[in-house]
Amino acid sequence: MTERNIATLYMKVDPVNPEQKAIEEAALILRRGGLVAFPTETVYGLGANALDGRAVASIFEAKGRPSDNPIIVHVAGREQVSALTESLPVTAEMLMEAFWPGPLTLVLPVGESVPQEVTAGLRTVAVRMPDHPVALALIRAAGVPVAAPSANMSGRPSPTSAEHVLEDLNGRIEAVLDGGSAEFGVESTVLDMTSKVPVVLRPGGITPEDLKDVLGEVDVDPAAAAGFNKEDKPRSPGMKYMHYAPLAPLRLVIGRPEAAASKIKELAGQEKARGRKVGILSLSKNDDFSHYGEVVTAGCREKPETVAAGLYSALRRFNDLGVDIIFAEGLEELGVGLAVMNRLKKAAGGHIIIV
Ligand code: AMP
Ligand code: MG
Repeated sequence: MTERNIATLYMKVDPVNPEQKAIEEAALILRRGGLVAFPTETVYGLGANALDGRAVASIFEAKGRPSDNPIIVHVAGREQVSALTESLPVTAEMLMEAFWPGPLTLVLPVGESVPQEVTAGLRTVAVRMPDHPVALALIRAAGVPVAAPSANMSGRPSPTSAEHVLEDLNGRIEAVLDGGSAEFGVESTVLDMTSKVPVVLRPGGITPEDLKDVLGEVDVDPAAAAGFNKEDKPRSPGMKYMHYAPLAPLRLVIGRPEAAASKIKELAGQEKARGRKVGILSLSKNDDFSHYGEVVTAGCREKPETVAAGLYSALRRFNDLGVDIIFAEGLEELGVGLAVMNRLKKAAGGHIIIV
């Protein structure tokens, strides 16, 4: 890991009416080429001036991010988009009208002003307008579009609080704006607008069903549903990396809830008998796993949005508990459930047990 030794400035702000002084200070850091972590409605982002290639390069350095993984550019309004793209299809405008600000990222033909550090050399650029007063105030005050991936060390669970950001990046970035917990909890939907029928490259808060209501037709990339892809040239470079992983190996158990729960108990019991410290990620309020290991509940499967909100801090909690192995329940891949299962499958790195 590259050595970085920076005094990270911590600034707490009101999430609804952020204090202008803190926003101005953070915006100045961005304009000078520094890195600022900030809350969005999905997860915390690590921002740099998107038009400054050197600043964007330091995002990769701070996170230990593979250089072939492009970064989403965040804007404060639709008027900022045309300068970033070569052309804007009517369908993209319809989607912005329907879902912005919000957790929908559009992949569009890249314009000349965007440095290649942002796109990792691709001919497309990913753009979104976040739905968070702090993020919007920061981008506006900076006066430039802001390139921002999630504000975690590469490969670790994305941060949903400023505390998570500091856990990973304290001393490696110039500042963090603390605006409380990120509400939605998993990253935005990434939609490729460059093919005839738009394709979901990464599932998120805006579901394929939501998109169909506006577009009529939408495809879901098989890798987005499977959660893992090791091809050399996947359509979204981020899809090939093992993301979101806690330190201990995670086994995702999929099946009818009762069958999956008894399989987890069986496997956890075996591991416990071998003297290993077991973690269990539960998605149900009433299943009692406590006899079999350290249980962390991340919402309940009947309300997938509660699982989205709690997933990443649950994964980080297992690190604090120091477990040796984790067994996780799954949920139905419907609506927001598709995004949650995509992240769980990635955290499992392909180790999925079907019952
Ligand atoms: P994150 O690092 O969590 O912000 O994730 C950004 C995601 O968007 C990654 O999966 C990237 O591969 C994807 N992405 C960013 N820019 C593009 C692009 N131009 N084309 C396709 N996928 C992109
Ligand atoms: Mg990320």
